[in-house]
Amino acid sequence: MTAQRRPRRRLARLPWLVATLALAPTSFAAEAGPNLVANPSMEEPDAKDPSKPAAWSTNTWGAVTPTFTWLQGDCAVGARCLRIDATVAAGKGYDDGDAKWWSAPFTVQPAATLAVSLQLRSDVPCRVMALAEGADGKGTPKSQWVLVKDVPAPSTGWAKVQASMSVPAFAATARLMVVMAATGRVEVDDLQAVTQASAAKHPAKVSLTFDDGWVSAYAYLVPELDARGLRATHFIISGYIDRVGYTADYVGSKRVRDLLGAGHEVASHTLMHQDMAKATAAELDENLELSRKALESFGTMVPGFAWPYGSYTATGAERARKTYSYVRTVEPGLNLLPYDLSKLKAYVVTNTTSVAEVESWVKQAEELDGAWLILVYHRADPEAPLDSYVTPQSFIDTLDMLQARNADIRPMGQWLDVWKAQPLPVVEPWVADGGASFDAPGSLPPVPGLGSGEGGTGCGAALRHGQGSDILGNAGLLALLGAMGLLLRRRRWAAQGAGVAAAPTPRGQ
Ligand SMILES: [Zn+2]
Repeated sequence: MTAQRRPRRRLARLPWLVATLALAPTSFAAEAGPNLVANPSMEEPDAKDPSKPAAWSTNTWGAVTPTFTWLQGDCAVGARCLRIDATVAAGKGYDDGDAKWWSAPFTVQPAATLAVSLQLRSDVPCRVMALAEGADGKGTPKSQWVLVKDVPAPSTGWAKVQASMSVPAFAATARLMVVMAATGRVEVDDLQAVTQASAAKHPAKVSLTFDDGWVSAYAYLVPELDARGLRATHFIISGYIDRVGYTADYVGSKRVRDLLGAGHEVASHTLMHQDMAKATAAELDENLELSRKALESFGTMVPGFAWPYGSYTATGAERARKTYSYVRTVEPGLNLLPYDLSKLKAYVVTNTTSVAEVESWVKQAEELDGAWLILVYHRADPEAPLDSYVTPQSFIDTLDMLQARNADIRPMGQWLDVWKAQPLPVVEPWVADGGASFDAPGSLPPVPGLGSGEGGTGCGAALRHGQGSDILGNAGLLALLGAMGLLLRRRRWAAQGAGVAAAPTPRGQ
């Protein structure tokens, strides 16, 4: 019956598959994934050298003389396990040398939490450690030792050791090991490393924006983006382009063309940086329409607009949205679905903003579905003497942090295109979003330094304007509407099943 041979081979695998599926809901539910360690119980021999276990190797340095054994029999799990016998001169310890069996590197999620467990039998203290390896934001290799668990007490029999470890944000791989630096014996078996479920974390959705077209930003900051293949949105004052008396400080037409050629997005920041909250309706119309036309003459779509000084009125916001796909403010906060495209929030980053502060916003964006973090930069100066400047180094550190956290960085218009192409609830707001209460789930602490007398140059200088009186003055009504809006939004998300978290988020910058 030769015809039955092939089907029989497949059938032979079926019970295993069924067993796995049957186990999945119970034993895998508490743990988020499979064991990342290859040959975890050291049962399999190496394909090239069957005298050694597959995916395990030894390492030693300094004042330790070890003997490594791939033990057979008397193991905790299965037939095989690992053993180290060592002699160390009196008074010597971890600082003088050590001996270890270590696993092959396995792929890890940056910043994930790993649940680590192993079987251990030892008559001396030892340590469970990890070596995390990856690259910094510029691609330079980077590694870090992580102490997973100190095991100071010997054990007479096999004992299960459990610990959790945080994977460094830069890491792409890790290897686990048991390290000893004392005269005695350590045995290891059944090493498990499982990525723990985290609360729907995903890469943060980030847009970097530059206001005004300051030459210093293009001398010090934007080249860093280009070197990393990152693209930003540039809010350009169209009337300043090539204008006599302005060319030392503001970008000219050549730079605008270069930006577009490099894939950056150019957006409008009015004709002459006039305060639009104080402009007449005709002046507002003129600024919205003519600045767009001026920038479109470079052969590009101009999808967005940002207010000089962050200053606008509610009617102005509605008017601007008629000319542009999105309108950005400098009101601090994350943008949550459904985005208010007439009043997108953004954090202004200045020389008083720490990288840790920016990272805290990124972390919140990682945890909130659909959250969109927009950062605003103005000028750069190596000394950063003014509030509206950043130093090139702080910008580099911020980019390193963003890339280490795997942030998805795109120009604003590109993010809107991505989301509009997906079946996501990107809709116009059904009620004016004018207060923090509306966005309570994602509300963030105010940015220190904002609106604190930044002078006339920064766009965030006039953050505290009178828009509140224009938009639903009654705070109680606003809170009620906000709560209703949240309920509606939640129902909308629920109706869409897994919603944002499950939607594929295209990457590549
Ligand atoms: Zn500005």
